[in-house]
Amino acid sequence: MQERSRNLERRLHETSSEVTQLRSNLERVREEAMTDALTGIANRKRFDEMLRKGRRDTEATGDPLCLMLCDIDHFKRFNDAYGHPAGDACLRRIAEAIAGETRGGRDCVARYGGEEFSVLMRGCDARSVARVVRRLRAGIAGLQIPHLARGDGHPFVTVSIGVAVVPAGRTTSPAELLAEADAALYEAKGLGRNCHVVRVIGDAAVILDDRRLGRLGAMRRK
Ligand code: GH3
Ligand code: MG
Ligand code: MG
Repeated sequence: MQERSRNLERRLHETSSEVTQLRSNLERVREEAMTDALTGIANRKRFDEMLRKGRRDTEATGDPLCLMLCDIDHFKRFNDAYGHPAGDACLRRIAEAIAGETRGGRDCVARYGGEEFSVLMRGCDARSVARVVRRLRAGIAGLQIPHLARGDGHPFVTVSIGVAVVPAGRTTSPAELLAEADAALYEAKGLGRNCHVVRVIGDAAVILDDRRLGRLGAMRRK
């Protein structure tokens, strides 16, 4: 009888260790499924989740929310000129620079796809996001990653950035927010790259990079 009880106790102990091990494996697999293997930052899956949650939370609190899309300029030519491994190393450095210029705990930085990164910033309005964008672009320029094949005379890797801002108290769907940031990025590319465009949801005006604002003046959507 004592022998049987000892055996049962031992098996119970083994099973509980296995369960602990399985739980920890599951946690690791979950984490891996949400992480971009190349850069180590969040992947698109995690970003989409954070966007849905961010939208729900800020709608409840009435805080503003910003979504930034940041795309490397002429990256195909970079790969063609320097090779794919150098392209991968460049992606890692850009990811690190973006993550370094944002608020780790509050902002979500992700690899949105290929050579495109996304940043979600809660409680951030148009004025403060413009400061973050300028800092971020200065950080990337400071890396001075040579890109002599880009074909526009600029010697280093640069990014174009599109930002959509949901002002405090305004309702928007994640899809609308993404579409707006994508349109802003498209505008930044159209303006010649290495610049940024900020669109505020519900406002016809777009805020351009200072340098271009001087040249183009205020731009209004049709
Ligand atoms: P644009 O300034 O208009 O953004 O031009 P682009 O060349 O950056 O854009 P395009 O979409 O034509 O090319 C994107 C390139 O990004 C092509 C693709 O090979 C490269 N790319 C995407 N993912 C990776 C990756 O994981 N590693 C490397 N090395 N390159 C990648
Ligand atoms: Mg690109
Ligand atoms: Mg792209």
